[in-house]
Amino acid sequence: MIERSLKALAQALAAREISSVELTRLYLDRIARLNPSLNAFISIDPERSLAQARAADARIAAGEAGPLTGIPLAQKDIFCAKGWRTTCGSRMLDNFVSPYDATVIEKFDAAGAINLGKTNMDEFAMGSSNETSFFGPVRNPWDTTRVPGGSSGGSAAAVAALLAPAATGTDTGGSIRQPAALCNLTGLKPTYGVVSRYGMIAFASSLDQAGPMARSAEDCALLLNAMAGFDERDSTSLDRPLEDYTRDFAAAADARPLAGLRIGLPKEFFGEAERAGCDAAVMRLVDEAIAEYRRLGAETVEISLPNMQRSVPAYYVIAPAEASSNLSRFDGVRYGHRAAEYADLNEMYSRSRAEGFGAEVKRRILIGTYVLSHGYYDAYYLQAQRIRRLIADDFVAAFRQCDVILGPTSPDTAFRLGEKAADPVQMYLSDIYTIAVNLAGLPGMSLPCGFVEAADGRLPAGLQLIGNYFDEARLLAVAHRYQQVTDWHRQHPELD
Ligand code: GLN
Repeated sequence: MIERSLKALAQALAAREISSVELTRLYLDRIARLNPSLNAFISIDPERSLAQARAADARIAAGEAGPLTGIPLAQKDIFCAKGWRTTCGSRMLDNFVSPYDATVIEKFDAAGAINLGKTNMDEFAMGSSNETSFFGPVRNPWDTTRVPGGSSGGSAAAVAALLAPAATGTDTGGSIRQPAALCNLTGLKPTYGVVSRYGMIAFASSLDQAGPMARSAEDCALLLNAMAGFDERDSTSLDRPLEDYTRDFAAAADARPLAGLRIGLPKEFFGEAERAGCDAAVMRLVDEAIAEYRRLGAETVEISLPNMQRSVPAYYVIAPAEASSNLSRFDGVRYGHRAAEYADLNEMYSRSRAEGFGAEVKRRILIGTYVLSHGYYDAYYLQAQRIRRLIADDFVAAFRQCDVILGPTSPDTAFRLGEKAADPVQMYLSDIYTIAVNLAGLPGMSLPCGFVEAADGRLPAGLQLIGNYFDEARLLAVAHRYQQVTDWHRQHPELD
């Protein structure tokens, strides 16, 4: 039961093969058994989850079920959920119980989904390995000596280990796609503004976007159907008609269902010299995926994203700048951690922040404050904003030649715990293929494309698809077609 797709789970619930309470218990029992070694969840609250499941069962009995009614989901601990401890992976919010729901949580609640628990994450979503969490690192279920990726590493590990059928993540520079790649999941970062940020603890507001992490493109589409939509409480939310993201999934009549699709291959990823930036075994799997897409009828065109190599430096000016401003609210006054001892108000601020934030968060606040300060603003922040515009323009030009862009998601497979933790720049480069997408505000996704076999085990690799603005439905359909002819996404790690 626990490895079934969301659609199959909904069918089982509708056929009374299982109740939502029973299904929720199956996952809660597995969490109790496996979470101590994986550390994928920060908080679980079985009573709360089961109360929601009972309400869902009543809805199903009354014939009022939707596609997600009664289905348990894991929520990244960046989403405020009423009555739940909401920590954002930080000591600063260790004691914070949210008095309100994020829009995403509210929408899943309205759909009748069950909140299974809050998943572990890098502190304030800053990281690519989940090692910056105050609550300790998450372990990759494919090899527990390795990282699951980050920052949504708890969600990724939970779904990969079948502790939850699907989960939410957020992606500021790659935090849905990179952990999806490292854990063999399908994850989607929507176009900026498609999913409300209300109640999602802010890291870099102009880049943050929530999205689904699941075991297939189809499951992602069902989750996005529930998550997307205009929200007047988020000033950057976009007022557009609701869409059905599964609309292009209908069975294709011919053997070349993607005939007419133009896939762009950036020479900044696939040029002879540029290939060296990616692990050779991962690149080989990406090449095989391209061959599969050609068999499905797609044609490939070479494109160029000339400012690609400037994306990581520009991001590490803009994201810390916004973070330094967003995190100024954590001052020990209204909520969150407050130092036990202090002489005066200033010392209360500084001690509370010194104790509440971890090293990576402090590094970002320092960088952000620096690049925004008088005299440096023009040289760093303004310059980074100009590069951001150039990167967005590169994509606009590229999408005149192609419909989707394809590349690797991550330059390597899951690395070992501790391997990059002492070297922030190495860690930042984990997102070399993903960050430009956030700077441009485009939708991007990662899907499983095979395994790298090594002497000490096998590790999943991810394929990235980037779409034009609001082209999520097409992206998901292009991923779905691949998943109809491959079974990488159906493979699970051996855990019991
Ligand atoms: N790894 C990137 C960072 O540390 C991206 C994180 C994210 O997408 N939240 O900022």
